[in-house]
Amino acid sequence: MIDVHAHLCFPEFDRDREEIIARCKQELAAVILATARYDECIEALKAAERHEGFLFPTLGYHPVEGTEREKVIELIKKNRDRIAGIGEVGLDYHWVKDREKQEKQREIFSQFVDLAEQLKLPLVIHSWDAEQECFDMVKGRDTNIVFHCYSGPVELAREIIQEDSMWISISTNICFSKQLRKVARILPLDKLLLETDSPFLDPDRERKRNTPWNIKLSAEKIEKETGTPKGKVLEHARDNAIEAFGLKI
Ligand SMILES: [Zn+2]
Repeated sequence: MIDVHAHLCFPEFDRDREEIIARCKQELAAVILATARYDECIEALKAAERHEGFLFPTLGYHPVEGTEREKVIELIKKNRDRIAGIGEVGLDYHWVKDREKQEKQREIFSQFVDLAEQLKLPLVIHSWDAEQECFDMVKGRDTNIVFHCYSGPVELAREIIQEDSMWISISTNICFSKQLRKVARILPLDKLLLETDSPFLDPDRERKRNTPWNIKLSAEKIEKETGTPKGKVLEHARDNAIEAFGLKI
């Protein structure tokens, strides 16, 4: 199995990062390291070097938490052949309601969309409460697109899955979100990715640290919801991750 979005370079993992990665290696085929800010990008590149062929970094600038954008862009260009994609980048209208600030987010996001297309790198999109806007901005663009932690409406999910180069990533939120279970019900097996967004989105909602192997719990929920055996769900999600990110594992 493959977790397509985990922040293993966040401080929450400082004390036992290598132990967590060792356990991941027992259970998963690969982990995509998501990044939100410049210092995290640097750490993700280092971790990926230590665990080549298992940890695959995407370098990003989160719409709210992002730092040092120009340096992130330089890092992406310089490491084009060592990274699995660009992200997370995107729009966040959940935390940002101010129209001018939203406009600024769109400006920045569109820079990253151009960059992904230029460099032929997959794009990992953060789209909280701005799913339609994100979709409109990437539709028709010539690169693979992953909607990370999708929490938008079912109708939009139906549109996204019509696109050849787009995938929807279901987070461990599915363990408690009715809305997400509705989305899972309409997702064909070849459009589904699984992620934890570790250390966030603990499936038990007890504010524990989430960890990449918890995608198993999401697969169990999907089995309950759709009748597709969890092993098959995990297998398809893994194959889709390999395709979406062009992983060599
Ligand atoms: Zn994230």
